[in-house]
Amino acid sequence: MNLIFERSHTGRGCEILPPCDVNEYPLDTKFVREKELHLPEISENDISRHYTELAKHAHGVNDGFYPLGSCTMKYNPKVNEEVAALPGFRNIHPLQPEHTIQGCLEVISLAEHCLCEVTGMDRMSFQPAAGAHGEFTGLLLIRAYHEARKDTKRTKIIVPDSAHGTNPASATMAGYSVISIPSTKDGSVDLDKLKEVIGEDTAGLMLTNPNTVGMFDKNIMKISEMIHEVGGLVYYDGANLNAIMGIVRPGDMGFDVIHLNLHKTFSTPHGGGGPGSGPVGCKELLAEFLPNDSIESKEGTFYLEKKEQSIGRVKEFYGNFLVVVRALTYVLTLGKCRIKETAENAVLNANYMMKRLEDLYPMAFAGPCMHEFVITLEELKKEKGVSALDIAKALLDYGIHPPTMYFPMIVHEALMVEPTETESKETIDQVVEIFREVYQKALETPEALHLAPVKTAVGRLDEVGAARNPKLRYVFEE
Ligand SMILES: *Cc1c(COP(=O)(O)O)cnc(C)c1O
Repeated sequence: MNLIFERSHTGRGCEILPPCDVNEYPLDTKFVREKELHLPEISENDISRHYTELAKHAHGVNDGFYPLGSCTMKYNPKVNEEVAALPGFRNIHPLQPEHTIQGCLEVISLAEHCLCEVTGMDRMSFQPAAGAHGEFTGLLLIRAYHEARKDTKRTKIIVPDSAHGTNPASATMAGYSVISIPSTKDGSVDLDKLKEVIGEDTAGLMLTNPNTVGMFDKNIMKISEMIHEVGGLVYYDGANLNAIMGIVRPGDMGFDVIHLNLHKTFSTPHGGGGPGSGPVGCKELLAEFLPNDSIESKEGTFYLEKKEQSIGRVKEFYGNFLVVVRALTYVLTLGKCRIKETAENAVLNANYMMKRLEDLYPMAFAGPCMHEFVITLEELKKEKGVSALDIAKALLDYGIHPPTMYFPMIVHEALMVEPTETESKETIDQVVEIFREVYQKALETPEALHLAPVKTAVGRLDEVGAARNPKLRYVFEE
């Protein structure tokens, strides 16, 4: 399709402004641009068609199956959008005085209460804008805690090798050195290896459970005990709470600080860069360090409070407020019982799909899994030359989004599948048939799969070329 600049014609436009009825004020030449600004000149009709055409080229949850493991691309109830669009939530200004936004403060406070209940934490801040931002904030809390106790030898954060890539990155940004520990064959933390690396210099451990290979680490109580014994704190990466919410709580597994991804588990659509929300929850011992301002209430009145020991602000104002509104709507519409049912369905769907595929697709870890499972195509690659990438691209021709590829990094030729709780049995059955058909093709006509996709707007991309010679902006003809 044409780019918007290629649709442009000089003199076209869609602005209808009344004649100017004030005196013109000539700008000082130093403020005036020397060259014409490149803007497309295009009629409203053509703009509308342009973006509709673009939208048709994109694939979203509303188009079809989207099993992007570790990302939770689920269907998000429209009622959340309706509530977030209410004028009282949408039209406020962040600098409005407290007494005029009591309802909004109550939303944040109630969301804090509900999500603390779900996670077993004591306090929560909604400032961080995404998961990685939440991790960074959580690590600053750990840092502030050790510093307040003048315990300055603690320079290391332990991260298992199965962790999401943001974990070591956040720990490094927070000024820690990262100690990576290997996982056992079933994907859990190797306790002997853990024992070897912990000590007086351990600031903490970052972990997710279920871990990034979709398995629940049964030794979790032992692990958090080991870290606490040496004076460290335990961080829970709660980006994907789908499998466990309403069933077990990180707080009860010994975790001191967590983040959630409201844009994954708690029903804000994501992709394309935001907005997201990565609230940080913590136990009482870290609460005084949470970002300013915290929202408190007294006799039914809500107010903002600056805490002296706070790590300070990590984002302007209240964080992405409307994402919090969606999360609260989601939690309140589900209620305690159905939050649990949601988690059960996420796990059931993943296990059902895994079972229906495992005779063809080799699984990296024996089930049962939690809310996602990992396929390894190492053998297929060796025998037929068909890679995880080829399979993923072939799936595109069936109108479904491929699973996450080449993650977690400890699995070769990995495909990580997360069907989510919102897919019906019929959809999963259909998708299973597609997966099976693609596998047959891989065995019978492996060369054909190197060319896939052939039915999409854009075919197989030259990924090496794109990485070596990236074209990041439109080049105008002079
Ligand atoms: C998605 C994810 C993150 C990062 O979240 P962002 O919002 O993308 O920054 C961190 N950890 C895990 C396990 C995740 O799945």
